[in-house]
Amino acid sequence: MINLILFGPPGSGKGTQAAKLVDKYRLVHISTGDLFRYEMGNDTPLGLEAKGYMDKGQLVPDSVTIGMLKNKVDSCPDVEGFIFDGFPRTIPQAEALNELLESMDTSVSALISLDVHDDEIVARLLERGKTSGRKDDANEEVIRKRIEVYESETSPVYDYYAQSGKSMKINGIGSLDDIFGRLSDAIDNL
Ligand code: ADP
Repeated sequence: MINLILFGPPGSGKGTQAAKLVDKYRLVHISTGDLFRYEMGNDTPLGLEAKGYMDKGQLVPDSVTIGMLKNKVDSCPDVEGFIFDGFPRTIPQAEALNELLESMDTSVSALISLDVHDDEIVARLLERGKTSGRKDDANEEVIRKRIEVYESETSPVYDYYAQSGKSMKINGIGSLDDIFGRLSDAIDNL
């Protein structure tokens, strides 16, 4: 199996690139943000719980997120691999993912981080907020909070996988096709 973690700050283009990578590499794309939004759209208890955190730019608690992720992975037997997008976002989530993959006799192949600076991210998210209907994109304060949470809680996940030589950075600025080309090169060289 190939199991990729697509990493980077909010608005770095993970979702967009994951959709393109899925077509090319026949992997299953799992976005925890999309899963939460699906639950919210259906007003499920999980969705209602997640909404309280998401609208403020905070992380949903690990226990909730890890449980949801495991259910999703379990519902996809016999696949060639996964692209995890927006997960893991904390060290406990990374540990849980390692355990889960280990129980399936596989592991994380690589973590690829899309490198984009803060000003660009804020501009992209405010622009996306005009059409995405996402509350967390519409308010600059919430966007700043998400970046702060990324720096304090999520960026250590990069260092965590760097310890086993699995982390890499690619430039996340440029055309969609340029970035896709850089990602494909990185994956082909694994
Ligand atoms: P973005 O990367 O643009 O912030 P996502 O769709 O990945 O968008 O995430 C949106 C929100 O969903 C996050 O701000 C957070 O509240 C929640 N969320 C998504 N994934 C996780 C996760 N792995 N752990 C905790 N909360 C999460």
